[in-house]
Amino acid sequence: MSFGVVEGGPGEEFISTVSGHPFGQVQFTGERQPLSQVRLLAPMLPSKVVAIGRNYADHAKELGNEVPEEPLIFLKPSTSVIGDGEAIAYPALSDRVDFEGELAVVIGRLCREVPVDRVKDVIFGYTCANDVTARDLQKKDVQFTRAKSFDTFCPLGPWIQTDLDPSDLALTTTVNGEVRQSARTSQLINDIPALVAYVSAVMTLIPGDVILTGTPAGVGPLEVGDEVSVGIEGIGTLTNKVVSRD
Ligand code: MG
Repeated sequence: MSFGVVEGGPGEEFISTVSGHPFGQVQFTGERQPLSQVRLLAPMLPSKVVAIGRNYADHAKELGNEVPEEPLIFLKPSTSVIGDGEAIAYPALSDRVDFEGELAVVIGRLCREVPVDRVKDVIFGYTCANDVTARDLQKKDVQFTRAKSFDTFCPLGPWIQTDLDPSDLALTTTVNGEVRQSARTSQLINDIPALVAYVSAVMTLIPGDVILTGTPAGVGPLEVGDEVSVGIEGIGTLTNKVVSRD
């Protein structure tokens, strides 16, 4: 198990293995393998995943919520993280599990109280995320922890794109190939510099920590057997199947 850099053109990608972690000056081991022969794990094991609620106006509206005056933040535990191709386990405690396709920001430097104009210095890159949510439990509880925290409820991947302008990317979520969410990241109410500054004013961020930037309209239920994909322009597509817990 190791980190690596994906290189090469479409259909001919290979992975150059990195020695140790990918932050700062990267050391390569010299080992290379075709991407097709490698099993991708979640691209990061974050100390925490900070998620933003109601950061697209049309999504706030579809669930009957007002757009909050300040970013609404909550946590997903590191134990909820899975990678591309791993299964989302439908929990026995819920009868309504929704997908939420989101752009994820990966932090690259230890930081806190980052000013908006320095946020770019602490970002390692971007990946696709699915903020899987037990909607019935979210409605029942006064806060989001139970609904957002089941094991497998935070698919991330397939990899991290380190060289990308995230300000206006197409985001598409499909279920069994049918488009359910289609939006652009330019529709974010609070943009990425504002979000990283806001979150880092509350808590220290550690390399590998992930910030989910919120989901656009179109969220809906998943059933056991469904295949859900979150695709973001310039990054790639994150695909996960839903399986029964037992
Ligand atoms: Mg969300």
